[in-house]
Amino acid sequence: MKAMVIGSGLGGICTALRLQRLGYKVEILEKHHQAGGRLNQLKKDGFTFDIGPSFFSMSYEFKSFAKEIGIEMPFEFTALDPLYTIHFRGSEKRYSIHKDLQLLAREFEEIEPDFEAKMRRFLAASGQLFHDTIDKVVKTNYTSLFHFFTTMATVPPKHAPKMFRTVWDEMSRYFASDTVKQIFSLVAFFLGATPFNTPAVYTLLTYTEMVHDGYHNVKGGMYTIVETLMEEVKKSGITIRYNTEITGFQEQDGKVVALADQQGKLHKADLFVINADAAAFRGKVLQRKKFTPEKLDQQKWTMAPFTLYLGVKGKLPNIDHHNYFLGNDFKAYSSKIFTNDAGLEQPYYYVNVLSKYNPESAPPGCESVFILCPVPDLRYKPTWLDREEVAQNIINDLSQRIGYNIADNLLSKTIYDPLDWQNTFNLYRGSGLGLAHNLNQIGAFRPKNYDEKFPNLFYVGASTTPGTGLPMVVISSKLVTERIQKKYGPVH
Ligand SMILES: Cc1cc2nc3c(=O)[nH]c(=O)nc-3n(C[C@H](O)[C@H](O)[C@H](O)COP(=O)(O)OP(=O)(O)OC[C@H]3O[C@@H](n4cnc5c(N)ncnc54)[C@H](O)[C@@H]3O)c2cc1C
Repeated sequence: MKAMVIGSGLGGICTALRLQRLGYKVEILEKHHQAGGRLNQLKKDGFTFDIGPSFFSMSYEFKSFAKEIGIEMPFEFTALDPLYTIHFRGSEKRYSIHKDLQLLAREFEEIEPDFEAKMRRFLAASGQLFHDTIDKVVKTNYTSLFHFFTTMATVPPKHAPKMFRTVWDEMSRYFASDTVKQIFSLVAFFLGATPFNTPAVYTLLTYTEMVHDGYHNVKGGMYTIVETLMEEVKKSGITIRYNTEITGFQEQDGKVVALADQQGKLHKADLFVINADAAAFRGKVLQRKKFTPEKLDQQKWTMAPFTLYLGVKGKLPNIDHHNYFLGNDFKAYSSKIFTNDAGLEQPYYYVNVLSKYNPESAPPGCESVFILCPVPDLRYKPTWLDREEVAQNIINDLSQRIGYNIADNLLSKTIYDPLDWQNTFNLYRGSGLGLAHNLNQIGAFRPKNYDEKFPNLFYVGASTTPGTGLPMVVISSKLVTERIQKKYGPVH
């Protein structure tokens, strides 16, 4: 029985390997010239950059995946400590975020009395929510809305108010200092949103970062995940074709019998798993009325990334591996930035100095630097003719704040604006993390991992269930494989 996987993002690769283990003959078709999707790599001017993800949480999901497909853990990872460092514009003070709460409390002793006790209370509540939902709600294949609601009804009712409060409101129940609230609500940005419009249920992410496993770097860089999994793909006899974009389909007797690529070539299989965005694919390729651009534009999408990949001569001072550079008008900035109502002259951004933990990513005496600035998606800012100017603002701001002239020491510079992200990986309107995670776009309300019409068509990845981020996508591959297995059984 032949399964065809469309897209070689992490979701596609993991699903291909899982299906191969169940006895399917698997082929992957990929639009880009190399595997990985958003988890990709750029090599340029002697530097190596991870283009998207720079760390991950819930490392045990990768371990379970390796075990389930019967391989040794293919890559090595190390826990981050500190998790990250925060800089506020105009202040010399840097906050280092440690998992050790006593050490962490020292960072905040001047601005938040009794920080440790407050944080323990906050983490106890978010931890309970995490453990009450992760297996039951997040890792479930829903069969209907009724199934979803009955599952939700089993979550202890004490968590219900968190559905109606925002992350910011929840923080305010425990902490008085705006600085503390800003720092620990940054997790909302990992969902591509802001703490002011993200439901408080996602404070469970603070528990995952601070207690339940933390964050991890991959030895050799994040792309090692893809390289090592692709070795396994090769060993398993799974074929992959690059530069092949699916643009159409052929149906017969109520099933998809083939997908057509941009040249009109037909690719036949018994079943298909779509790793392209689950909402956008239904609209663009399947021409579904519920997923037209007008309908998709009314959905909530996560932020678009504006990313810079810089090769810098010299070693950067006053900066760690993972750093957030924030301004001092957090509330105003975050309420305006995603709708293009805030200028990008003084942006908020994240900086990852890959060469600090992975020296081979830069020539000796140099640094390989990744900068991610969340910006409006293409609905709100469709053109990026000002990309050089935006990049220059960020480079100047960072130079000033760390006391090192990056512009004068630049050996390599690459910019990806939201148009690049859209065009390279078919990300809808350049949205970096896919569909947002508000309550009417999760669980049974998210685009399903099986097709509404064709029984042999399935979906995996960030815009289907359970959601975005590397561990979630690994879980997504497990969920879709379970669906397929339930329908077809193992085919040995
Ligand atoms: C800038 C950035 C930073 C991020 N940082 C982190 C982080 O630090 N930690 C973390 O956990 N997550 C992070 N994420 C999120 C993470 O990258 C994604 O959730 C995850 O990689 C999504 O994987 P996926 O398999 O769903 O999709 P993708 O990686 O998007 O893969 C889909 C693949 O399908 C291909 N494709 C699309 N359409 C077609 C078609 N029609 N025909 C053929 N092929 C097609 C695409 O080219 C792509 O290769 C980040 C994302 C971005 C953009």
